[in-house]
Amino acid sequence: MKKRIYLDYSATTPVKKEVLDEMLPYFTEKYGNPSSIYTIGRESKQAIDHARDRVAKAIGAASREVFFTGGGSEADNWAVKGAAYGNRHKGKHIITTKIEHHAVLDVCKYLEKDGFEVTYLDVDEYGMINIEDLKKAITDKTILITIMFINNEIGTIQPIKEIAKIAREKGVLFHTDAVQALGNIPLDVKELGVDLMNFSAHKIYGPKGVGAIYIRKGVKLHPLIHGGGQERKKRAGTENVPGIVGFGKAVELAVESLDQHVAHVKKLRDKLIKGIEENIDYVRLNGHPTERHPGNVNFCFEFIEGESLLLSLDMVGIEGSSGSACTSGSLDPSHVLMAIGLTHEIAHGSLRLTIGDFTVEEDIDYVVENLKVIVDRLRQMSPLYEKVKGGQ
Ligand SMILES: *Cc1c(COP(=O)(O)O)cnc(C)c1O
Repeated sequence: MKKRIYLDYSATTPVKKEVLDEMLPYFTEKYGNPSSIYTIGRESKQAIDHARDRVAKAIGAASREVFFTGGGSEADNWAVKGAAYGNRHKGKHIITTKIEHHAVLDVCKYLEKDGFEVTYLDVDEYGMINIEDLKKAITDKTILITIMFINNEIGTIQPIKEIAKIAREKGVLFHTDAVQALGNIPLDVKELGVDLMNFSAHKIYGPKGVGAIYIRKGVKLHPLIHGGGQERKKRAGTENVPGIVGFGKAVELAVESLDQHVAHVKKLRDKLIKGIEENIDYVRLNGHPTERHPGNVNFCFEFIEGESLLLSLDMVGIEGSSGSACTSGSLDPSHVLMAIGLTHEIAHGSLRLTIGDFTVEEDIDYVVENLKVIVDRLRQMSPLYEKVKGGQ
């Protein structure tokens, strides 16, 4: 069988066996609708309550502050639209950054068309926002600050506690997309002082299509989905019971094994970074050197096109991702790499490899060996590289 080395854990993760085992009965014998009053209905309801307690416990929230959604993107949409429409009587100004996930950025663009004003904060070369810029951007019309916890492309971790403090002092709601943070750093909503925070199950070894949002008690969010009394009348639709059960288990596992997980991925991440820097010329590590997602590696390889690199890697069984927005079918370089000041050419040669629980040390050796050969070969075909080498 062909070797297959999955290094795209920030895109999604496999469902862990313990998670799947808890989910399975809810597809078959325990199929009751949680809104039904007979026994199997009530059992489904109890299973959701149990999952909610688990998520709440993992983030230091009360169970009543946790709401399930159909994934991280829905929760981002809900946080930003819900806060915007719930507070438009107070003002129509929102502050975010240039490096948010599209589930926040595109909502902000949408709101701009609907009369809201949005400030997109710059970031520095490491992807970090400037706190002074944030303070200066706040006006008496500002109703929401939304800044992601950990960037999904370059792994930079923002100073969320500091931002939350500023927002609270100014009486502005603060939302953070913590999809990449859950399971990778300790999270305590009370300690952090955030108002809204969201998560996704499939980034933490749970199933796809389920997420959650923490809504601090007292914060009013307009509902996004109307049509039923589920999730305390805030999010209509029959609950994804197996998904929610799986999410609950995945969160519990993630928190229990946090230290172990972080130590494991960090060690392999640092080995991979070192291996690339020591074996390949003309590379640039993107993201912050220390304030960084424990499993994130993101490099630009000069004189190379990211898509060809990905295809060549795939041929030797290595699965990673590039910084161009291939999902949208375009070859526009990533907005994140643009925001940290890279040129189009350099940004096009980017590669993100993200490490997870099932990555082993030999995988890293295999990747470094193969990457070196592939990068050499692709550069041989690059006229630009020939010029640089010739000039030496
Ligand atoms: C994956 C991701 C999302 C989207 O979550 P889905 O559950 O896939 O919709 C949002 N924000 C960040 C930072 C992510 O990494």
